[in-house]
Amino acid sequence: MPGEKCGLFGARCFNNKCVFDLLYWGIMAQNHRGHESYGFLTRAENFRRHVNIGLVPQLSGRRYSRWRNFLKGDVGIAHVRYGTSGERSFSKLDYAQPLIASENGEKIGFAFNGNIVNAYELQDRLAEKFRKDEVFYDALVFSKYLVNNISNGLMSAIESCMRNLEGAFSVLGLRHNGELFAFRDPLGIRPLSIGESEDGMIKAFSSETVGLNINGLRFIGDVKPGEAVVVTRDGMERERLVKSERTAFCAFEYAYFARPDSFLNGKYVYSVREEFGRNLGKRFRDIVENADIVLSMPETAEDAAYGLHEETGLKWERILRRHRYVTRRAFILEPEERVSTIDRKVNIVGERLKGKRVIIVDDSIVRGDTTRTVVSKIRKAGAEKIYVFITFPKITHPCFYGIDMATFDELIGFRLDEEGIAKQIGADGVFYQPLEDYIRATGMNANELCTACITGEYPTETAQKMAEAAKASAKIEDQRRIYERPELLRG
Ligand code: SF4
Repeated sequence: MPGEKCGLFGARCFNNKCVFDLLYWGIMAQNHRGHESYGFLTRAENFRRHVNIGLVPQLSGRRYSRWRNFLKGDVGIAHVRYGTSGERSFSKLDYAQPLIASENGEKIGFAFNGNIVNAYELQDRLAEKFRKDEVFYDALVFSKYLVNNISNGLMSAIESCMRNLEGAFSVLGLRHNGELFAFRDPLGIRPLSIGESEDGMIKAFSSETVGLNINGLRFIGDVKPGEAVVVTRDGMERERLVKSERTAFCAFEYAYFARPDSFLNGKYVYSVREEFGRNLGKRFRDIVENADIVLSMPETAEDAAYGLHEETGLKWERILRRHRYVTRRAFILEPEERVSTIDRKVNIVGERLKGKRVIIVDDSIVRGDTTRTVVSKIRKAGAEKIYVFITFPKITHPCFYGIDMATFDELIGFRLDEEGIAKQIGADGVFYQPLEDYIRATGMNANELCTACITGEYPTETAQKMAEAAKASAKIEDQRRIYERPELLRG
Protein backbone atom coordinates (compact mmCIF):
# COMPACT_ATOMS: atom_id res chain seq x y z
CA MET A 1 0.00 0.00 0.00
CA PRO A 2 1.06 3.56 -0.67
CA GLY A 3 1.30 7.16 0.74
CA GLU A 4 1.69 10.92 0.39
CA LYS A 5 -0.72 13.40 -0.38
CA CYS A 6 -1.84 16.46 1.26
CA GLY A 7 -5.29 17.71 2.04
CA LEU A 8 -6.56 21.26 1.67
CA PHE A 9 -9.52 23.18 2.97
CA GLY A 10 -10.23 26.91 2.73
CA ALA A 11 -13.29 29.10 3.22
CA ARG A 12 -14.61 32.62 3.33
CA CYS A 13 -17.71 33.60 5.31
CA PHE A 14 -19.67 36.59 4.07
CA ASN A 15 -21.81 36.60 7.21
CA ASN A 16 -19.01 37.35 9.72
CA LYS A 17 -19.11 33.76 10.93
CA CYS A 18 -15.84 32.52 12.45
CA VAL A 19 -14.09 30.53 9.73
CA PHE A 20 -12.20 28.31 12.18
CA ASP A 21 -15.21 26.01 12.71
CA LEU A 22 -15.29 25.27 8.97
CA LEU A 23 -11.52 24.86 8.69
CA TYR A 24 -11.26 22.54 11.66
CA TRP A 25 -13.93 20.09 10.50
CA GLY A 26 -13.07 20.45 6.82
CA ILE A 27 -9.45 19.46 7.36
CA MET A 28 -10.26 16.87 10.02
CA ALA A 29 -12.42 15.06 7.44
CA GLN A 30 -9.34 14.83 5.23
CA ASN A 31 -6.74 13.70 7.73
CA HIS A 32 -6.38 10.48 5.70
CA ARG A 33 -4.52 12.62 3.11
CA GLY A 34 -1.68 13.55 5.46
CA HIS A 35 -0.56 12.44 8.90
CA GLU A 36 2.78 14.19 9.13
CA SER A 37 1.66 17.70 10.06
CA TYR A 38 -1.36 20.00 10.06
CA GLY A 39 -1.84 23.74 9.99
CA PHE A 40 -4.33 26.61 10.02
CA LEU A 41 -4.00 30.17 8.78
CA THR A 42 -6.72 32.76 9.25
CA ARG A 43 -6.90 36.49 8.73
CA ALA A 44 -8.51 38.96 11.09
CA GLU A 45 -6.63 42.28 11.35
CA ASN A 46 -3.52 40.26 10.39
CA PHE A 47 -2.51 36.64 9.78
CA ARG A 48 -2.98 34.09 12.56
CA ARG A 49 -1.12 30.81 12.05
CA HIS A 50 -0.88 27.58 13.96
CA VAL A 51 0.97 24.49 12.69
CA ASN A 52 2.10 21.33 14.41
CA ILE A 53 3.20 17.78 13.68
CA GLY A 54 0.96 14.70 13.74
CA LEU A 55 -2.79 14.34 13.30
CA VAL A 56 -5.30 17.17 13.70
CA PRO A 57 -6.03 16.94 17.44
CA GLN A 58 -9.42 16.23 18.96
CA LEU A 59 -10.45 19.51 20.58
CA SER A 60 -13.35 20.12 22.85
CA GLY A 61 -14.64 22.56 25.44
CA ARG A 62 -12.25 25.25 26.57
CA ARG A 63 -9.40 24.03 24.38
CA TYR A 64 -11.55 24.36 21.26
CA SER A 65 -12.60 27.88 22.33
CA ARG A 66 -8.97 28.91 22.87
CA TRP A 67 -8.04 27.79 19.35
CA ARG A 68 -11.13 29.48 17.94
CA ASN A 69 -10.27 32.74 19.71
CA PHE A 70 -6.73 32.69 18.48
CA LEU A 71 -7.55 31.65 14.89
CA LYS A 72 -10.19 34.28 14.45
CA GLY A 73 -11.35 35.93 11.26
CA ASP A 74 -13.84 35.18 8.49
CA VAL A 75 -11.39 33.77 5.95
CA GLY A 76 -8.71 31.10 6.19
CA ILE A 77 -6.98 28.02 4.84
CA ALA A 78 -5.92 24.71 6.38
CA HIS A 79 -3.61 21.88 5.36
CA VAL A 80 -2.59 18.35 6.30
CA ARG A 81 0.67 17.06 4.97
CA TYR A 82 2.58 14.01 4.10
CA GLY A 83 5.70 15.12 2.27
CA THR A 84 7.06 14.04 -1.06
CA SER A 85 9.77 16.66 -1.09
CA GLY A 86 12.42 17.45 1.48
CA GLU A 87 13.89 15.20 4.11
CA ARG A 88 11.76 12.16 4.94
CA SER A 89 11.17 12.89 8.56
CA PHE A 90 8.25 12.66 10.89
CA SER A 91 9.44 15.40 13.18
CA LYS A 92 10.15 18.43 10.97
CA LEU A 93 7.89 21.29 11.76
CA ASP A 94 9.76 23.33 9.13
CA TYR A 95 7.74 21.71 6.35
CA ALA A 96 4.30 22.24 7.88
CA GLN A 97 1.84 24.32 5.87
CA PRO A 98 0.18 26.76 5.36
CA LEU A 99 3.38 28.76 5.12
CA ILE A 100 3.71 32.51 4.72
CA ALA A 101 5.75 34.06 1.91
CA SER A 102 6.43 37.78 1.60
CA GLU A 103 8.14 40.08 -0.88
CA ASN A 104 8.01 43.85 -1.54
CA GLY A 105 5.18 44.48 0.92
CA GLU A 106 3.06 41.57 -0.34
CA LYS A 107 2.34 38.69 2.00
CA ILE A 108 0.55 35.45 1.16
CA GLY A 109 -0.48 32.35 3.05
CA PHE A 110 0.13 29.27 0.92
CA ALA A 111 -0.92 25.61 1.07
CA PHE A 112 -0.45 23.05 -1.65
CA ASN A 113 -1.13 19.45 -2.62
CA GLY A 114 1.08 17.86 -5.23
CA ASN A 115 4.72 17.90 -6.21
CA ILE A 116 6.88 20.15 -8.37
CA VAL A 117 9.17 18.23 -10.70
CA ASN A 118 11.41 21.18 -11.63
CA ALA A 119 11.68 22.71 -8.14
CA TYR A 120 15.50 22.49 -8.14
CA GLU A 121 15.70 24.45 -11.38
CA LEU A 122 13.41 27.14 -9.96
CA GLN A 123 15.37 27.27 -6.75
CA ASP A 124 18.49 28.09 -8.81
CA ARG A 125 16.57 30.94 -10.48
CA LEU A 126 15.39 32.30 -7.14
CA ALA A 127 18.67 31.65 -5.29
CA GLU A 128 19.02 35.15 -3.84
CA LYS A 129 15.53 34.91 -2.29
CA PHE A 130 16.54 32.07 0.04
CA ARG A 131 18.09 32.55 3.45
CA LYS A 132 21.17 30.39 4.04
CA ASP A 133 19.47 28.49 6.88
CA GLU A 134 16.26 27.76 4.93
CA VAL A 135 15.36 24.10 4.37
CA PHE A 136 14.62 23.34 0.73
CA TYR A 137 11.27 21.88 -0.26
CA ASP A 138 8.99 22.44 -3.19
CA ALA A 139 6.21 24.35 -1.36
CA LEU A 140 8.74 26.96 -0.26
CA VAL A 141 10.10 27.41 -3.79
CA PHE A 142 6.56 27.54 -5.17
CA SER A 143 5.34 30.17 -2.70
CA LYS A 144 8.41 32.34 -3.31
CA TYR A 145 7.88 32.10 -7.04
CA LEU A 146 4.24 33.13 -6.67
CA VAL A 147 4.82 36.07 -4.34
CA ASN A 148 7.71 37.34 -6.46
CA ASN A 149 5.45 37.60 -9.49
CA ILE A 150 2.42 39.05 -7.76
CA SER A 151 3.27 42.71 -8.41
CA ASN A 152 1.88 42.19 -11.95
CA GLY A 153 -1.45 41.07 -10.52
CA LEU A 154 -2.61 37.82 -8.88
CA MET A 155 -4.00 36.21 -12.06
CA SER A 156 -0.81 36.98 -13.95
CA ALA A 157 1.32 35.47 -11.12
CA ILE A 158 -0.83 32.33 -11.09
CA GLU A 159 -0.61 32.02 -14.87
CA SER A 160 3.16 32.31 -14.64
CA CYS A 161 3.17 29.43 -12.11
CA MET A 162 1.03 27.34 -14.45
CA ARG A 163 3.39 28.00 -17.36
CA ASN A 164 6.71 27.63 -15.53
CA LEU A 165 6.19 25.04 -12.84
CA GLU A 166 6.03 21.44 -13.95
CA GLY A 167 4.13 18.94 -11.88
CA ALA A 168 0.95 18.48 -9.92
CA PHE A 169 -0.43 21.34 -7.89
CA SER A 170 -3.72 22.15 -6.31
CA VAL A 171 -3.17 25.34 -4.34
CA LEU A 172 -5.01 27.42 -1.78
CA GLY A 173 -3.73 30.90 -0.96
CA LEU A 174 -4.71 33.80 1.23
CA ARG A 175 -3.54 37.34 0.57
CA HIS A 176 -2.96 39.79 3.33
CA ASN A 177 -5.85 41.89 1.99
CA GLY A 178 -8.18 38.93 2.65
CA GLU A 179 -8.51 37.56 -0.91
CA LEU A 180 -8.83 33.80 -0.89
CA PHE A 181 -7.62 32.06 -4.05
CA ALA A 182 -7.42 28.56 -5.48
CA PHE A 183 -5.90 27.06 -8.60
CA ARG A 184 -5.01 23.76 -10.21
CA ASP A 185 -2.24 22.81 -12.62
CA PRO A 186 -3.25 22.67 -16.30
CA LEU A 187 -3.46 18.87 -16.24
CA GLY A 188 -5.62 18.80 -13.10
CA ILE A 189 -3.58 16.00 -11.51
CA ARG A 190 -4.78 16.53 -7.92
CA PRO A 191 -8.42 17.14 -6.94
CA LEU A 192 -9.89 20.42 -5.67
CA SER A 193 -13.61 20.97 -5.24
CA ILE A 194 -15.70 24.10 -4.64
CA GLY A 195 -18.68 24.36 -2.32
CA GLU A 196 -21.04 26.87 -0.85
CA SER A 197 -23.75 27.15 1.78
CA GLU A 198 -27.43 27.07 0.74
CA ASP A 199 -27.70 30.85 1.19
CA GLY A 200 -24.43 31.46 -0.68
CA MET A 201 -22.90 33.24 2.33
CA ILE A 202 -20.04 30.75 2.63
CA LYS A 203 -17.70 29.79 -0.21
CA ALA A 204 -15.26 26.96 0.33
CA PHE A 205 -12.58 24.81 -1.33
CA SER A 206 -11.72 21.28 -0.35
CA SER A 207 -9.39 18.62 -1.80
CA GLU A 208 -12.20 16.08 -1.41
CA THR A 209 -15.93 16.70 -1.23
CA VAL A 210 -16.05 15.07 2.25
CA GLY A 211 -14.60 18.34 3.61
CA LEU A 212 -17.68 20.15 2.24
CA ASN A 213 -20.16 17.48 3.40
CA ILE A 214 -19.03 17.59 7.02
CA ASN A 215 -19.68 21.34 7.04
CA GLY A 216 -23.13 21.05 5.45
CA LEU A 217 -21.94 22.79 2.27
CA ARG A 218 -23.10 21.77 -1.19
CA PHE A 219 -20.66 20.80 -3.92
CA ILE A 220 -20.91 23.17 -6.88
CA GLY A 221 -18.12 21.79 -9.08
CA ASP A 222 -14.36 21.40 -9.33
CA VAL A 223 -11.69 24.01 -9.85
CA LYS A 224 -10.99 23.14 -13.48
CA PRO A 225 -7.51 22.20 -14.70
CA GLY A 226 -5.64 25.45 -15.44
CA GLU A 227 -8.32 27.52 -13.71
CA ALA A 228 -7.90 30.14 -10.97
CA VAL A 229 -10.73 31.06 -8.62
CA VAL A 230 -10.55 34.16 -6.42
CA VAL A 231 -12.98 34.96 -3.62
CA THR A 232 -13.02 38.61 -2.60
CA ARG A 233 -15.47 40.63 -0.48
CA ASP A 234 -17.49 41.10 -3.69
CA GLY A 235 -17.90 37.41 -4.52
CA MET A 236 -16.24 34.73 -6.63
CA GLU A 237 -14.32 35.26 -9.85
CA ARG A 238 -13.23 32.35 -12.07
CA GLU A 239 -10.82 32.36 -15.00
CA ARG A 240 -9.38 29.53 -17.09
CA LEU A 241 -5.80 30.76 -17.51
CA VAL A 242 -4.18 27.84 -19.31
CA LYS A 243 -5.94 25.22 -21.40
CA SER A 244 -4.31 21.91 -22.10
CA GLU A 245 -5.21 19.41 -24.85
CA ARG A 246 -5.49 16.62 -22.33
CA THR A 247 -5.94 16.31 -18.58
CA ALA A 248 -4.20 13.86 -16.26
CA PHE A 249 -6.17 13.29 -13.08
CA CYS A 250 -4.26 10.86 -10.84
CA ALA A 251 -5.76 7.41 -11.44
CA PHE A 252 -4.46 6.27 -8.07
CA GLU A 253 -6.86 8.56 -6.17
CA TYR A 254 -9.67 6.12 -6.98
CA ALA A 255 -7.92 2.99 -5.71
CA TYR A 256 -6.31 4.25 -2.57
CA PHE A 257 -6.21 7.86 -1.47
CA ALA A 258 -9.62 9.33 -1.70
CA ARG A 259 -12.25 8.48 0.86
CA PRO A 260 -14.97 6.16 -0.53
CA ASP A 261 -17.65 8.77 0.18
CA SER A 262 -15.86 11.43 -1.86
CA PHE A 263 -17.23 12.42 -5.24
CA LEU A 264 -14.53 12.55 -7.95
CA ASN A 265 -15.20 13.58 -11.54
CA GLY A 266 -18.86 12.68 -11.42
CA LYS A 267 -18.73 9.42 -9.45
CA TYR A 268 -18.57 8.36 -5.82
CA VAL A 269 -15.29 6.61 -5.14
CA TYR A 270 -17.04 3.68 -3.44
CA SER A 271 -19.06 2.91 -6.58
CA VAL A 272 -15.89 2.95 -8.70
CA ARG A 273 -14.25 0.57 -6.23
CA GLU A 274 -17.23 -1.79 -6.33
CA GLU A 275 -16.86 -1.85 -10.10
CA PHE A 276 -13.16 -2.72 -9.68
CA GLY A 277 -14.23 -5.77 -7.67
CA ARG A 278 -16.81 -6.80 -10.27
CA ASN A 279 -14.14 -6.50 -12.97
CA LEU A 280 -11.73 -8.71 -11.02
CA GLY A 281 -14.49 -11.27 -10.49
CA LYS A 282 -15.21 -11.42 -14.23
CA ARG A 283 -11.57 -11.43 -15.37
CA PHE A 284 -10.37 -14.14 -13.00
CA ARG A 285 -13.49 -16.31 -12.81
CA ASP A 286 -11.50 -19.56 -12.86
CA ILE A 287 -9.63 -18.56 -9.68
CA VAL A 288 -12.86 -17.39 -8.03
CA GLU A 289 -14.58 -20.70 -8.85
CA ASN A 290 -11.84 -22.56 -7.00
CA ALA A 291 -11.87 -20.34 -3.89
CA ASP A 292 -13.93 -20.67 -0.69
CA ILE A 293 -13.98 -17.06 0.54
CA VAL A 294 -12.98 -13.54 -0.38
CA LEU A 295 -11.38 -11.22 2.21
CA SER A 296 -10.64 -7.54 1.96
CA MET A 297 -7.83 -5.42 3.25
CA PRO A 298 -9.45 -2.90 5.53
CA GLU A 299 -10.52 -0.24 4.52
CA THR A 300 -9.61 0.72 0.97
CA ALA A 301 -10.41 -2.68 -0.56
CA GLU A 302 -13.71 -3.37 1.18
CA ASP A 303 -15.90 -1.90 -1.54
CA ALA A 304 -14.01 -3.87 -4.21
CA ALA A 305 -14.36 -7.12 -2.24
CA TYR A 306 -18.08 -6.45 -1.94
CA GLY A 307 -18.28 -5.87 -5.73
CA LEU A 308 -16.50 -9.16 -6.38
CA HIS A 309 -18.83 -10.97 -3.97
CA GLU A 310 -21.87 -9.41 -5.62
CA GLU A 311 -20.67 -10.32 -9.11
CA THR A 312 -19.64 -13.90 -8.40
CA GLY A 313 -21.59 -14.95 -5.32
CA LEU A 314 -18.33 -15.91 -3.55
CA LYS A 315 -18.73 -15.65 0.23
CA TRP A 316 -17.25 -12.41 1.61
CA GLU A 317 -15.79 -12.75 5.09
CA ARG A 318 -14.55 -9.71 6.97
CA ILE A 319 -11.85 -11.66 8.71
CA LEU A 320 -9.27 -8.88 8.57
CA ARG A 321 -10.10 -6.17 11.07
CA ARG A 322 -8.38 -2.89 11.68
CA HIS A 323 -7.34 -1.56 15.05
CA ARG A 324 -9.19 1.71 14.68
CA TYR A 325 -6.81 3.95 16.60
CA VAL A 326 -3.60 2.73 14.97
CA THR A 327 -3.86 5.42 12.37
CA ARG A 328 -0.61 5.75 10.44
CA ARG A 329 -0.87 4.69 6.82
CA ALA A 330 1.73 2.01 6.31
CA PHE A 331 2.96 3.08 2.88
CA ILE A 332 4.28 6.41 4.11
CA LEU A 333 6.53 4.99 6.80
CA GLU A 334 10.16 3.96 6.78
CA PRO A 335 10.60 0.23 5.86
CA GLU A 336 11.34 -1.05 9.38
CA GLU A 337 8.35 0.86 10.81
CA ARG A 338 6.07 -0.21 7.98
CA VAL A 339 6.10 -3.93 8.70
CA SER A 340 5.59 -3.55 12.43
CA THR A 341 2.83 -0.96 11.92
CA ILE A 342 0.84 -3.13 9.51
CA ASP A 343 1.36 -6.06 11.86
CA ARG A 344 -0.19 -4.07 14.70
CA LYS A 345 -2.82 -2.42 12.57
CA VAL A 346 -4.51 -5.47 11.08
CA ASN A 347 -5.93 -8.25 13.23
CA ILE A 348 -7.19 -11.61 11.94
CA VAL A 349 -10.14 -13.69 13.07
CA GLY A 350 -8.07 -16.80 12.37
CA GLU A 351 -10.49 -19.62 13.27
CA ARG A 352 -12.43 -19.17 10.04
CA LEU A 353 -9.37 -19.64 7.83
CA LYS A 354 -8.30 -23.24 8.53
CA GLY A 355 -8.06 -25.25 5.30
CA LYS A 356 -9.69 -22.47 3.24
CA ARG A 357 -8.78 -21.34 -0.26
CA VAL A 358 -8.74 -17.58 0.10
CA ILE A 359 -8.81 -14.55 -2.20
CA ILE A 360 -7.56 -11.32 -0.59
CA VAL A 361 -8.51 -8.10 -2.35
CA ASP A 362 -6.11 -5.20 -1.87
CA ASP A 363 -5.86 -1.77 -3.53
CA SER A 364 -2.25 -1.85 -4.67
CA ILE A 365 1.22 -3.29 -4.25
CA VAL A 366 4.03 -0.76 -4.11
CA ARG A 367 6.95 -2.28 -2.22
CA GLY A 368 5.24 -5.52 -1.25
CA ASP A 369 6.11 -5.55 2.43
CA THR A 370 2.63 -4.74 3.78
CA THR A 371 1.00 -7.40 1.58
CA ARG A 372 3.63 -9.93 2.63
CA THR A 373 2.89 -9.26 6.31
CA VAL A 374 -0.83 -9.89 5.85
CA VAL A 375 -0.34 -12.95 3.64
CA SER A 376 1.94 -14.47 6.26
CA LYS A 377 -0.67 -13.89 9.00
CA ILE A 378 -3.33 -15.58 6.89
CA ARG A 379 -1.00 -18.49 6.13
CA LYS A 380 -0.21 -18.93 9.83
CA ALA A 381 -3.92 -19.05 10.56
CA GLY A 382 -4.14 -22.17 8.38
CA ALA A 383 -5.32 -21.00 4.92
CA GLU A 384 -4.61 -23.66 2.28
CA LYS A 385 -4.32 -21.37 -0.75
CA ILE A 386 -3.92 -17.57 -0.90
CA TYR A 387 -4.60 -15.58 -4.07
CA VAL A 388 -4.04 -11.83 -4.04
CA PHE A 389 -6.32 -9.69 -6.24
CA ILE A 390 -5.16 -6.10 -6.76
CA THR A 391 -7.49 -3.35 -7.97
CA PHE A 392 -4.75 -0.95 -9.16
CA PRO A 393 -2.80 -2.28 -12.15
CA LYS A 394 0.85 -3.23 -11.67
CA ILE A 395 2.97 -0.25 -10.55
CA THR A 396 6.18 -0.35 -12.55
CA HIS A 397 7.29 3.30 -12.56
CA PRO A 398 7.84 5.99 -9.93
CA CYS A 399 5.50 8.90 -9.37
CA PHE A 400 6.63 12.51 -9.78
CA TYR A 401 3.32 14.08 -8.91
CA GLY A 402 2.78 13.75 -5.20
CA ILE A 403 2.77 10.08 -4.24
CA ASP A 404 5.85 8.99 -2.38
CA MET A 405 7.06 6.16 -4.59
CA ALA A 406 9.87 7.99 -6.23
CA THR A 407 12.57 5.48 -7.19
CA PHE A 408 12.52 2.43 -9.46
CA ASP A 409 14.28 0.10 -7.08
CA GLU A 410 11.70 0.39 -4.32
CA LEU A 411 8.92 -0.83 -6.64
CA ILE A 412 8.40 -4.58 -6.52
CA GLY A 413 6.48 -4.31 -9.82
CA PHE A 414 9.53 -2.85 -11.57
CA ARG A 415 11.80 -5.65 -10.40
CA LEU A 416 9.57 -8.72 -10.68
CA ASP A 417 6.82 -10.29 -12.79
CA GLU A 418 3.57 -11.57 -11.23
CA GLU A 419 5.07 -14.96 -10.45
CA GLY A 420 8.10 -13.39 -8.76
CA ILE A 421 5.87 -11.05 -6.77
CA ALA A 422 3.68 -13.94 -5.58
CA LYS A 423 6.78 -15.80 -4.43
CA GLN A 424 8.18 -12.76 -2.65
CA ILE A 425 4.98 -12.03 -0.74
CA GLY A 426 4.29 -15.72 0.00
CA ALA A 427 1.06 -15.99 -2.04
CA ASP A 428 -0.07 -18.72 -4.47
CA GLY A 429 -0.86 -16.14 -7.13
CA VAL A 430 -1.12 -12.39 -7.75
CA PHE A 431 -3.73 -11.01 -10.17
CA TYR A 432 -3.93 -7.35 -11.18
CA GLN A 433 -6.94 -5.60 -12.67
CA PRO A 434 -6.04 -4.76 -16.31
CA LEU A 435 -5.64 -1.06 -17.07
CA GLU A 436 -8.51 -0.93 -19.57
CA ASP A 437 -10.94 -2.35 -16.98
CA TYR A 438 -9.68 0.13 -14.41
CA ILE A 439 -10.13 3.14 -16.68
CA ARG A 440 -13.61 2.05 -17.74
CA ALA A 441 -14.71 1.76 -14.10
CA THR A 442 -13.66 5.37 -13.36
CA GLY A 443 -15.91 6.67 -16.15
CA MET A 444 -12.99 8.74 -17.46
CA ASN A 445 -11.17 8.52 -20.79
CA ALA A 446 -7.56 7.41 -21.04
CA ASN A 447 -6.47 10.94 -22.04
CA GLU A 448 -8.08 12.41 -18.93
CA LEU A 449 -6.11 10.28 -16.46
CA CYS A 450 -2.49 10.03 -15.38
CA THR A 451 -1.44 6.37 -15.44
CA ALA A 452 2.32 7.01 -15.61
CA CYS A 453 3.22 4.71 -12.72
CA ILE A 454 1.61 1.84 -14.67
CA THR A 455 2.60 2.67 -18.24
CA GLY A 456 5.76 4.78 -17.89
CA GLU A 457 4.14 7.44 -20.09
CA TYR A 458 4.34 10.68 -18.13
CA PRO A 459 2.05 13.58 -18.99
CA THR A 460 4.87 16.13 -18.53
CA GLU A 461 8.20 16.43 -20.32
CA THR A 462 10.75 16.75 -17.51
CA ALA A 463 9.22 13.83 -15.62
CA GLN A 464 9.51 11.67 -18.75
CA LYS A 465 13.16 12.63 -19.24
CA MET A 466 14.03 12.06 -15.59
CA ALA A 467 12.27 8.69 -15.52
CA GLU A 468 14.15 7.51 -18.58
CA ALA A 469 17.49 8.71 -17.24
CA ALA A 470 16.81 7.15 -13.83
CA LYS A 471 15.70 3.85 -15.36
CA ALA A 472 19.05 3.57 -17.09
CA SER A 473 20.75 3.92 -13.70
CA ALA A 474 18.13 2.10 -11.64
CA LYS A 475 20.56 -0.36 -10.23
CA ILE A 476 22.67 2.36 -8.62
CA GLU A 477 22.12 2.45 -4.87
CA ASP A 478 20.64 5.92 -4.62
CA GLN A 479 17.90 6.43 -2.09
CA ARG A 480 17.05 9.97 -3.26
CA ARG A 481 13.74 10.59 -4.99
CA ILE A 482 14.32 10.88 -8.74
CA TYR A 483 13.08 14.48 -8.88
CA GLU A 484 15.61 15.33 -6.18
CA ARG A 485 18.45 14.23 -8.53
CA PRO A 486 18.85 17.26 -10.85
CA GLU A 487 22.03 15.72 -12.33
CA LEU A 488 19.80 13.28 -14.26
CA LEU A 489 18.67 16.10 -16.51
CA ARG A 490 22.17 17.29 -17.19
CA GLY A 491 22.91 13.91 -18.79
S1 SF4 B 1 2.17 8.49 -11.56
FE1 SF4 B 1 0.55 7.20 -10.65
S2 SF4 B 1 0.37 7.90 -8.54
FE2 SF4 B 1 1.50 9.48 -9.66
S3 SF4 B 1 -0.05 10.95 -10.36
FE3 SF4 B 1 0.22 9.48 -12.01
S4 SF4 B 1 -1.32 7.88 -11.59
FE4 SF4 B 1 -1.10 9.09 -9.73
